[in-house]
Amino acid sequence: MSAPGVARTKVRRHPERGQYDRATIDAILDEALICHVGFVVGGQPYVIPTIHARAGDHVYVHGSAASRMLRTLGAGVPACLTATLLDGLVLARSGFSHSMNYRSVVVLGLATEVTDGAEKLAALEAIVEHVVPGRWAEARLPNEVEMRQTSVLRMPLDEASAKIRTGPPKDAEEDLDLGVWAGVIPLALVPGTPVADPQLRDGIALPEYARSYRIQNRRRTRR
Ligand SMILES: Cc1cc2nc3c(=O)[nH]c(=O)nc-3n(C[C@H](O)[C@H](O)[C@H](O)COP(=O)(O)OP(=O)(O)OC[C@H]3O[C@@H](n4cnc5c(N)ncnc54)[C@H](O)[C@@H]3O)c2cc1C
Repeated sequence: MSAPGVARTKVRRHPERGQYDRATIDAILDEALICHVGFVVGGQPYVIPTIHARAGDHVYVHGSAASRMLRTLGAGVPACLTATLLDGLVLARSGFSHSMNYRSVVVLGLATEVTDGAEKLAALEAIVEHVVPGRWAEARLPNEVEMRQTSVLRMPLDEASAKIRTGPPKDAEEDLDLGVWAGVIPLALVPGTPVADPQLRDGIALPEYARSYRIQNRRRTRR
């Protein structure tokens, strides 16, 4: 992990919002369902949304072995992985001071393709369990063809930062008397009621992990 103040992961704007401890970084990565991975191909930056999972000191992403993102990253180009949790809209008295409450993580480094079969399977399990805890034990395991068609990459978490904004608007002192409502509209990702596949065989009950699915209650501590 980068030491604050010396590294390229140092948060410069509002440095008081920067955090660098692994517990904070891990909690954000574990709660975020998706991330965005940035990399450059031929001078053109691409930022691609994808699913991730943290396991221990790495964050894993996966996808089709034919995907440009996975082929590019697997070749060892510098990458930037970002996960963002949006917690609220901050309505200030001035347009200038509007903001958002958030928790975000930026990870810099080189991705490496996971070639070891056991680690690859464990990473795929981590990704499934990251999204829906309890699902891996029930779903059919990947077969050899599916494993070949899937690439898994890992990035180390040794160069990472978190940035967190919380609380009310920060209006300028001279704006506090304005007759304009100010405050925070909290936001949260809330699951709806599960909808069964129209082709679902008769007699299969909705599993408890789906019935009681809560984004914030997913497993926060991993190996
Ligand atoms: C939902 C959301 C909305 C935002 N809206 C705006 C906006 O409208 N305008 C704006 O200028 N900024 C916005 N930000 C903040 C933005 O992400 C940057 O933090 C900001 O641009 C300042 O970057 P910097 O110049 O300090 O750092 P940079 O020099 O760009 O980055 C230096 C290092 O700081 C770390 N870092 C920077 N930002 C983050 C972050 N968000 N999370 C984790 N690590 C970080 C990274 O490791 C990076 O390598 C928003 C952030 C979020 C999550």
